Amino acid sequence: MDGPSVRTFAARALPKISFTSWVTYERYFRLGVVVKCPHNGSMVSIGPLEQSLHTARALVLADLAASQVAAADVVSMVEDSVVQRRWWVEQWPEGAEFVAGLVAQDVQDALLESHGRWPLCPVCGSGDPHALEIEPELGPDPHWVCHQAGVKVAAVGSLVIAMGGTSSS
Ligand SMILES: [Zn+2]
Repeated sequence: MDGPSVRTFAARALPKISFTSWVTYERYFRLGVVVKCPHNGSMVSIGPLEQSLHTARALVLADLAASQVAAADVVSMVEDSVVQRRWWVEQWPEGAEFVAGLVAQDVQDALLESHGRWPLCPVCGSGDPHALEIEPELGPDPHWVCHQAGVKVAAVGSLVIAMGGTSSS
C-alpha cells in the first residue's frame, strides 16, 4: 500500500524520465523480471551513468558476438542485466566503472542456466572446456581471465581478439 508520503514526494521531486525508458521499464515488468522502481528521490539524468550502461551493453554484446552466442534470447539477458544495473548504479554512481564487469557476470550466470558455460577459454588447448572469469569481480577495467592458465585473456569487449588470435596454431 503506497502511503500519502510517497505521492507527496513524487510530486516534489518529479523524476525526469523519458517516455521511451518508461515503456522499457513497463516491458520488463510485464516479462516478470523483478525491477525496483529506480527513482526513489534521486534525479534520473541521462549523463555519465547512462553512458556507462550503454558502454557495458555494447562491450558484453561484442563478447557474445565473438563467441557466436548473440541470439535474441541472449541479447534479452543483456537487457535484463542492464535494467537491473541501472538501478544499482543510480544508488551508487561511483560504481559506474564497474558496470561492464557486472553485466558480463550477470550474463554469464544467466547463460550458465540456459546455454551452458560462457565464454569458453580460448587459451587452454587441452583438458576440460572451462569458462573464463571476470576480474576484478567488482572494479574498473574488467578482464576475462583463465584461472587454470593464470592469464588475462582479454578486456571485456575485446574477446574477439583472443578468439581469433589463438583459435589455430
Ligand atoms: Zn583456460
